[in-house]
Amino acid sequence: MHSNQRVLVTGGAGFLGSHLCERLIKEGADVLCVDNFYTGTRRNVEVLLGSRSFELMRHDVCFPLYVEVDQIYNLACPASPIHYQFDPVQTTKTSVHGAINMLGLAKRVKAKILQASTSEVYGDPEVHPQPESYWGRVNPIGLRSCYDEGKRCAETLFFDYWRQHRLRIKVVRIFNTYGPRMHPNDGRVVSNFITQALRGEPITIYGTGEQTRSFCYVDDMIDALVLTMKTNDEFTGPVNIGNPGEFTMLELAEKILRLTGSRSKLVHEPLPSDDPRQRQPDIALAREQFGWRPKIALEDGLRETIAYFRDIVGA
Ligand code: NAD
Ligand code: UDP
Ligand code: UDP
Repeated sequence: MHSNQRVLVTGGAGFLGSHLCERLIKEGADVLCVDNFYTGTRRNVEVLLGSRSFELMRHDVCFPLYVEVDQIYNLACPASPIHYQFDPVQTTKTSVHGAINMLGLAKRVKAKILQASTSEVYGDPEVHPQPESYWGRVNPIGLRSCYDEGKRCAETLFFDYWRQHRLRIKVVRIFNTYGPRMHPNDGRVVSNFITQALRGEPITIYGTGEQTRSFCYVDDMIDALVLTMKTNDEFTGPVNIGNPGEFTMLELAEKILRLTGSRSKLVHEPLPSDDPRQRQPDIALAREQFGWRPKIALEDGLRETIAYFRDIVGA
């Protein structure tokens, strides 16, 4: 269904973006990957550089972009706390100015546009699991706010362009996703635990380790992004995408130790501020709308991810 479509992927040289570009090209699309290489790398899309259907452009979405495309996947934004808190003002600018520019572009060329939003819009939730109708509990002035509020404002912009300009929008709330090409130093729990286990270093459990997350393997996530784009024009989302399997960080550490055969010890470190205690997607809407559900169990996805990190850590 993507054949002959010109598809723009912003943040296309990042973790999710590079997998998405690959998938779109397999489906026959012409892909324009736009990235400022803040956290993404050329290496992530190296295998695509030889393809005639792929074009890579260095560009910051905070600045206007004039290209001709049929669809836009707006993924540009640093996603891990270490990266998005390094330059918080730039993080908000990327979410807000980036959304305005990509929506302005979509309006001019009448493209369909999908926003990579996040489960962080729910903040530290009082409702569990989180359905799309939940408005969230977000601190507007904390360390995570540049990301959370930036993404919330981007959602607002998407829905106002939809109401005001009848744009065809899709808003996807992505829950924690992991897999090959995660940044080894992004500080996220899966990459941290795997690299620590492979190096025989202590596994850093923040707080008691009883806080929970739900982890979705990247291939399942890419299926869902592409399916969401293909829904009829009436469907705007927001739609949750994630794997409802919920694990404590202690359980995750135990699995990674077992799968790597590592003898690393657990050490406890302070819990970062505003760290959500629990998170689990309610994915009923995605199932009803386009029959999606995740297929890859955590242990299977972790095996693939560990194999990827073995190469990197060994190198
Ligand atoms: P990532 O950091 O690997 O990818 C983000 C990409 O955006 C990078 O290639 C980066 O260089 C690029 N970028 C950043 N600022 C830019 C700018 N101003 N202009 C152009 N490019 C810019 O992160 P990811 O995990 O692949 O996340 C992709 C998207 O999905 C992000 O919008 C993120 O918020 C969202 N998301 C991811 C997760 C997850 O668990 N991975 C969860 C929720 C939401
Ligand atoms: N924009 C862009 N590419 C386009 C069209 C617009 O980057 O092809 C940017 C433009 O810089 C503008 C923003 O998108 O600031 C919002 O565009 P819109 O048409 O909604 O508003 P306006 O042009 O009135 O500011
Ligand atoms: N975490 C941890 N050790 C680490 C990195 C993270 O215990 O080395 C915890 C973190 O405090 C949080 C959970 O793992 O409770 C998920 O963190 P991550 O940064 O991966 O994602 P997010 O908090 O954005 O969901």
